[in-house]
Amino acid sequence: MTIHEVELEFTVRLQSRSKTEMIVLHHSASAVATVETIHALHLLNGYGGIGYHYLVRKDGSIWRGRPENVVGAHSKGNNLYSIGICFEGNFENEEMGEAQVVAGVELIKDILSRYGELEIVGHRDLQATACPGKGFPISAFTAVQEEEGKEEAEDDGPAAWAKDACEKCVELGLFLGDGKGNYRWRDYVSRQELAVVLMRMRGLENG
Ligand SMILES: [Zn+2]
Repeated sequence: MTIHEVELEFTVRLQSRSKTEMIVLHHSASAVATVETIHALHLLNGYGGIGYHYLVRKDGSIWRGRPENVVGAHSKGNNLYSIGICFEGNFENEEMGEAQVVAGVELIKDILSRYGELEIVGHRDLQATACPGKGFPISAFTAVQEEEGKEEAEDDGPAAWAKDACEKCVELGLFLGDGKGNYRWRDYVSRQELAVVLMRMRGLENG
């Protein structure tokens, strides 16, 4: 993932943030927005410079606003413990294209890899605002957190109807699991995993 950097001058001393509990999603509310235009606007608003930590543009490029570890200026009352991501566009009357969704998901995954579990919310969940717009695909981004959570969840084992077959597969060494007794029986099998299992089967037949 590439994060584009722009040299920006802030008129306030940026304070580092001592805790991170939340990611707040915003839109720029304008059809076109760059880090520079938002920076200029937020200077006029008296925020000392761009208030968001990141900007995700429509072309899928990711841009740094404020450094990730400092207090933002994007959601009054929540800035001390949150990271603000702005998406270019006005999703009150636009739909988000795939490149921007993919980039947003990638960025959120990257942030979660550093902080662990975080609450992911839209600006309007915290304040009386339309931001990030009624067409904003919020669930595409909150799902990232759920997926991460799912990976950590305990293995719930196979369904009753498949239990015998699964046990037999383990006994025969067709499925090796992760070494901790987890086989993720309800996950899908990729072609490469299937190829390995088929080759193990052939080894059994020939042996
Ligand atoms: Zn907002």
